[in-house]
Amino acid sequence: MQIGGVQKTSLLDYPDKISAIVFTQGCNFRCGYCHNPELIVMKKEPAWTCAGFFEFLNSRKGKLDGVVITGGEPCMQVGLIDFIKEIKNLGFLVKLDTNGTFPSVLKNALPLIDYIAMDIKAPLYKYKEITQLSIDIEQIKESIDIIMNSGIDYEFRTTVVKSQLSIEDFKAIGELIRGARKYYIQKFVPSKILDKTLMSEKTYSDNEFEEIINILFRYINKIVLR
Ligand code: SF4
Repeated sequence: MQIGGVQKTSLLDYPDKISAIVFTQGCNFRCGYCHNPELIVMKKEPAWTCAGFFEFLNSRKGKLDGVVITGGEPCMQVGLIDFIKEIKNLGFLVKLDTNGTFPSVLKNALPLIDYIAMDIKAPLYKYKEITQLSIDIEQIKESIDIIMNSGIDYEFRTTVVKSQLSIEDFKAIGELIRGARKYYIQKFVPSKILDKTLMSEKTYSDNEFEEIINILFRYINKIVLR
């Protein structure tokens, strides 16, 4: 595992749980709005060793409920499954964040995971434009399918830059994840991001989001704007 950083406590990243966050290095996508651009390229040296992280975790027994593994893209990590097993052996819950491009890794990890969050970057026809990567879009569909049929708690989520996603696009997203348990719409905040040309971009107004949410209610019952 190439650990790019650790946040020792979070009340926000694992719903209703107190968690620590592990950030893994490396991502196959290049989303312009990425808030962790320093994690995208795999570095030679990890910021934390696994041993150091587990020592920290041992000291947090009884204080933390779980661990959020995020990135970067955690499913790119060769040692991911063993890493999750070790966390579970210490008695912590595990939430995994993913961009959905590694369905086979996801399948192997699912029996060990307690909560999963997958990014829905866009309707399938806009994935390349937003992620700057040509992928086999079937991988995204497969990951959605695996997650929705997994029986574990999950969420899908989309970061919204107004110029990148039209209202029509949300209809296509609704179709893509029709019947999903939870969908979070995340307002784009121009702060530390990968593509500086997006700094002047905006997200939708609250009134516009109301319209978008009403459209999405045709497909999904629980939608949260954050
Ligand atoms: S936003 Fe997520 S998927 Fe996109 S480049 Fe950043 S870490 Fe990768």
